Amino acid sequence: MDAVQQLAEALRASKYAVVLTGAGASTESGLPDFRSKAGLWQQVDPMKILSMTALRRTPVAFYQFYHQRLTHLRDAKPNPVHIGLAALQQAGYVKCLITQNIDGLHQAAGSTDVVEMHGSLRECVCLDCGRRYPSDLIDVEVNTEADIPHCPECRGVLKPSVVLFEEALPVDAIERAVAATEQSDLFVVIGSSLEVGPVNQLPALAVHGGADLAIINLDSTYMDRHARWLIREKAGAVVTQICQHLGL
Ligand code: NAD
Ligand code: ZN
Repeated sequence: MDAVQQLAEALRASKYAVVLTGAGASTESGLPDFRSKAGLWQQVDPMKILSMTALRRTPVAFYQFYHQRLTHLRDAKPNPVHIGLAALQQAGYVKCLITQNIDGLHQAAGSTDVVEMHGSLRECVCLDCGRRYPSDLIDVEVNTEADIPHCPECRGVLKPSVVLFEEALPVDAIERAVAATEQSDLFVVIGSSLEVGPVNQLPALAVHGGADLAIINLDSTYMDRHARWLIREKAGAVVTQICQHLGL
């Protein structure tokens, strides 16, 4: 059996398999990741644009970047990674799905109870009153400060409901992710460089608790040497093969 078939068998045998996805799970939907050569990192300096400081000091540039991302997102469709993982979750092979992505494509593919560690670009939130709205309100072209979207209730500035640099992760997501990871006997990373903390600590926590680790990623990660299965192939084809092997 090759590594992909072995991983499928391990999923079948597992009691509590957890999957962690990153931007690499969505590149096959046409959404660029951050750290690959063709990634977003090459186009913008994220610390300058994707931070609370940037939203407060240079809101026009901030909103121009997010408008571009929202435009990409509107056309993006779930790919075989999202679709296969939803099938694995529904069949009971995957007990918990944790994502660093903010694109909502797991839910679009039919996954439920997704633990979104970095929030969601499908919503926005008022910086003053905390009310939440669908992201249509921030899906606007911003050329001057007068175009910056504001809260319909209190006129506070709206922010995409994503975790920016300088912001803490949502406590409930951390709690759910840690609890699931501690319970896991199989932990599968799909499409993440594991360079962004604190989420990149989850695979180590799983291994520490005795779980087997699988990493499906095109580039190397700091956890590669701890992985029982290291699969350097495109995630869409791998997840599809796993589903086929399990008769899904
Ligand atoms: P990352 O860009 O750091 O790493 C992505 C990894 O995926 C890379 O190592 C790359 O080799 C791998 N990859 C790319 N395409 C792949 C494919 N088809 N099959 C297998 N592997 C593939 O992304 P990250 O680890 O998620 O961390 C970066 C941060 O970027 C996260 O906080 C995330 O919230 C954010 N982000 C999200 C999106 C999104 O929601 N779609 C897009 C870009 C960045
Ligand atoms: Zn408000």
